[in-house]
Amino acid sequence: MSKIILTGDRPTGRLHVGHYVGSLKERVKLQNSGEYDEIYIMIADAQALTDNAEHPEKVRQNIMNVALDYLACGIDPEKCHIFIQSMVPELTELTFYYMNLVTVSRVQRNPTVKAEIKQRNFEASIPVGFFCYPISQAADITAFRATTVPVGEDQMPMIEQCKEIVHKFNSVYGETLTDPEIVLPSNKSCLRLPGIDGKAKMSKSLGNCIYLSDEEDVVKKKVMSMFTDPNHLRVEDPGQVEGNPVFIYLDAFCKDEYFEEFWPEYKNLDELKAHYQRGGLGDVKVKKFLNKVLQAELAPIRARRKEWEQKLPEVFAILKEGSKAAEAKAAETLQDVKAAMRINYF
Ligand code: ATP
Ligand code: MG
Repeated sequence: MSKIILTGDRPTGRLHVGHYVGSLKERVKLQNSGEYDEIYIMIADAQALTDNAEHPEKVRQNIMNVALDYLACGIDPEKCHIFIQSMVPELTELTFYYMNLVTVSRVQRNPTVKAEIKQRNFEASIPVGFFCYPISQAADITAFRATTVPVGEDQMPMIEQCKEIVHKFNSVYGETLTDPEIVLPSNKSCLRLPGIDGKAKMSKSLGNCIYLSDEEDVVKKKVMSMFTDPNHLRVEDPGQVEGNPVFIYLDAFCKDEYFEEFWPEYKNLDELKAHYQRGGLGDVKVKKFLNKVLQAELAPIRARRKEWEQKLPEVFAILKEGSKAAEAKAAETLQDVKAAMRINYF
């Protein structure tokens, strides 16, 4: 069986370091492993419209931002099809047929949907399109016969819902759809990177992000304003590293060689943590180190992004080619689906 990847992001803003450690870095690794036959990376504009119906311009503009962030991170258009979701109308048709296989109460129980409804103050009036987005996500995944879906931990309930749709479809209409597996980052701190405000998740919609395209001084300002252990008031106080955003970021980004380069007083993160926990180490020093680590990680990404910004027509061409390839693949699956349902009349 072919090994196929489908993954993507909503074009609701520029991509941030949470996307990077939670999903993008993993994608680049899988892309370069050479183990995958086909890789599809979707800019989910149709999904973004489900909670941005009044702001199509915002979604439209961010398609290019997301594409640039992808290329900056090392997603290689020679190895991946980067495409725009709305340019593959087959996905909408698949969604329509899958809707009949899912109950309203099942979608209501989806923990990610629940959390996002709350986050967006949709409790009293949920757009139907937004409510159905887990079903459309199942269409996206199955349309490409994806075997592997590298995404962040918040997407786990979506993949479970997708698997249920696959099983239901296959049991009602006969073996047709491919069962996907989620691939999460192996580093626990990368699963759900908190925002700089210490909130549960860094998210474009919450305005608590460090963006991949932020300039050096902006990154520094954000790092220096980060939340830490609220009980670590004086330098000599013992500090807590668990749940402390600054240390979660270090867990996600720091490599031992950064100590050698920027802070040779310690050999590794464990030594730094031990000192912080004992007391006698101020937050400002740790933040300054985190800033250096982040700058080292982000500088090459920022530079590559600037290069691509000079070649926007080339980026458009990449999206066009990618969307063409994606549509061809989705059309094949749609044909199989309709054949299985025996609704292919002519
Ligand atoms: P929005 O607020 O518009 O939903 P978002 O910041 O949540 O935006 P998405 O486009 O919904 O970003 O997520 C894209 C991918 O990035 C998903 O695979 C998701 O799991 C992952 N991801 C998003 N935020 C984080 C985070 N803070 N930590 C780890 N992974 C994340
Ligand atoms: Mg999201």
